[in-house]
Parts: sequence; structure tokens; C-alpha cells
Amino acid sequence: MKKKIYERTLEDYREQAWGCARDNWCMNQWGWNVKSSRYNEICPEFRIHRSHAYSGMGKFHITRALLEGDFDYTDSSELLDILYHCTSCGACEMNCLRLEEKEPLKAAEALKYRMIELGLAPLPAHQELIKSIKNYDNPWLQPRAKRKDWTKGLKVKDVTKEKADVLFFAGCTPALDPELTHEAVNTVKVLTKAGVDVGVLGEQEICCGSPAIRLGDRDTFFPLVKRNIEMFKQYGIKKIVTSCAGCYHVIKYDFPEVPNVPDMGGIEVYHISEYLHKLLKEGKLSFKKQMPLKVTWHDPCHIGRHCGIYEEPREILKAIPGIELVEMERIKDQGWCCGAGAGVRTAFPDMALTIATERIEEAKETGAEALVTSCPYCEQNLVDPIRRNKEKLKVLDLTDLVLEALS
Ligand code: SF4
Ligand code: SF4
Repeated sequence: MKKKIYERTLEDYREQAWGCARDNWCMNQWGWNVKSSRYNEICPEFRIHRSHAYSGMGKFHITRALLEGDFDYTDSSELLDILYHCTSCGACEMNCLRLEEKEPLKAAEALKYRMIELGLAPLPAHQELIKSIKNYDNPWLQPRAKRKDWTKGLKVKDVTKEKADVLFFAGCTPALDPELTHEAVNTVKVLTKAGVDVGVLGEQEICCGSPAIRLGDRDTFFPLVKRNIEMFKQYGIKKIVTSCAGCYHVIKYDFPEVPNVPDMGGIEVYHISEYLHKLLKEGKLSFKKQMPLKVTWHDPCHIGRHCGIYEEPREILKAIPGIELVEMERIKDQGWCCGAGAGVRTAFPDMALTIATERIEEAKETGAEALVTSCPYCEQNLVDPIRRNKEKLKVLDLTDLVLEALS
């Protein structure tokens, strides 16, 4: 039987590492998708470093050399730098799986875990996040009691006290970052307007574990998975909706890959873009307000490439009267990462800013007035170059537009 992803060790990737064809598909757009040489690249890490070591291919070759004993885990100070400049955007894996049936990103995450097991990783900046998750159940050093502050003044059930059809899992960042709580508030308002019986976990909600597992830290991630699933079962949760791309990816696709934790037992998990699309198709959302706006859609890696949600948000945008959707060059499975993921924004803010700046340039070239997305990390990171360069382009969450169009 095939091993679950988080049962696999670095040794399980030996054959893949040896089989790397060195064909560079993990760094470049598919030929038929290339529209200009300016935007033909796909790996943010390689874009910054211009060294093949900093790519999916590079990580396969490093894995191979380590497994064969050609060098040791402690031999190079660059090894951690290479591992933690990767945003886990999945572009290398998307292209490599399609053509070569190999998983360079999963191999890289197994290598991060090996480094953690050896006591060599993660980086000091990441250790703060991990410590905070362990102490406060969120990566942002915020007390548990603050977790439900965003619900003040909102009419929403507390599922720890009464049943609701849908659990809205807010996630640490939308719940605790005042600049991003609008994503959580909007989601509850939109779902309520559509007649959905929605509830939240309030103070009981804990980190889904995404920041930990993207750093390779299985030892922190596994207990969080167990506690989350136990809590979902304790409160009889049947359906989960989240507006955080990272939470969605982890709860839907990573939780079932963790060994020795309770089964999810058929709990349905939706990203808000997916759920709103479902409501739209069922005739439960009807947009009345004219919203004359030219927009472009930024595919968050954790709902797009990692989970295949591309069309749903685009169809929602097209259904809003007055919205004109124009596309950037790098979209869908060939999309360009925002630059924030897997602890890059925390440890290497300059790289995160450079990658985000390139995305904003790409968005501006479409003539759009707003870049729309549906991920707190993407929003946070893409807003940085806009503020810094005093750009006119707006960055909006999908629910900002949906809520306004419903009113
Ligand atoms: S696409 Fe895959 S096989 Fe090709 S160079 Fe990259 S990692 Fe190696
Ligand atoms: S996951 Fe993204 S940043 Fe990391 S090596 Fe692959 S393409 Fe590059």
C-alpha cells in the first residue's frame, strides 16, 4: 500500500531524486503558456538566486547527494538557506508531476523534516512561530482570548454551544491580524445573507498547523491535526468552510495524509470561493448591485496549484454585474506565487517583497483597477509593494466584492 505523505522519509524519495531529468521544467512555464520572456519563469526561489540549487531540481540533487553520503547535512551553511527560500508554491511539483511523475516539493519538505530531526532547522525566525503555536495555538504570539474578537457585533453561532450546519474556520491570520479580519467578517456576513446556518469555534479554534508543516515540522503539526479532528468530532461538525487558502489546503489534503490520527469521517471541507460558487449555482446568491470595475484574479498557490480551484472564483467574479475580468500572463497552474509562503515572508522579507512587486507589475499590465484574491497571506504580501510604491492598484479579497454586490 502506498505510504501516506507524512509517513514517508527522505529515503522514500531516493529513486525520484536519481530520476531527475535535469530538464528545467520546474523553473519555467510550459512552452505553450509563455506569452513573453519577461514572465516565463515559475520558480520564485530560482528567480531570486539564479542558482539551480535554489529550485526543485536542485533539491532533488541535494537529496541524492545526502542520501549517497556525498556530503553531510552539516557540511554546508547554504543548505538551510536553500531549503527555506522555497515558498512551497508547488510550481516545480506541478510541472514535474505532469511530465516526470516526480515530487520535488514533497522531497524538499521531507528534507526539511530531516534537518529538524537532526536539530539543525528551522531558522531562528521560524522558531519564534513554532514557539508561539506551541504556547498560544497561533503563530502570532496572541493570547487565545483574542481569537474571537473579530466576531464582536456579528450575529454568528458558537458551535461549542449550539449546532450549526456549517463551521466557518477563520484561521489564525484572519482572526488575529486587524488588517485581515475583514475576510472573516465578510465571510460570515455573506454566508448569512445566503441563508447558511453558520457557526464558529471562537476561542476554541486552534491553528490548523499549516505554518508548521510548510516549515517541515511534523512534530508540531501532527498533534495539531489530532486536536483539530477531535474537536470537529466533539462538536458534531459535518461541513467546514474557510477563507484561508493555507487552512483549506492543510485541512482538506494534508490532514488525511497524517498517520495515527482519527479519520475525518467524511467531514466536507470547502474553500470560500468553492462554497460561494456552489451557492451561486444553486441560486442562493444573487448579485444586484452594479460594480463597474476591471479586475484581475491572483490564484493563491494553496487553493490553485495545490488543490485545483481555478474556475470557481473566476465564475463568481464574472457573475457580478459590471465586473470585467482580465487575466495576467501567469495564471492557474502556471501562476506566479505572491512570495510569502512557507515562512519566506517571516525569514526573508526582501525576497517576499521582490516576488510580490513582480506580481503587482504583472497585474498592472492588464490595465486592471484591482487585483482580487482569496488568501490572507497573498493579500498581506501583495499589499506591501502597493503601499511602498504608492500604487493606485487595489488589492481586494473576493468576499469584499461579493458582499458589496449582494447589498
Ligand atoms: S522538472 Fe522534475 S525532473 Fe525536470 S529538472 Fe525539475 S525536478 Fe528534475
Ligand atoms: S515550491 Fe515553488 S519556490 Fe519552491 S522550489 Fe518549487 S517552484 Fe521553487
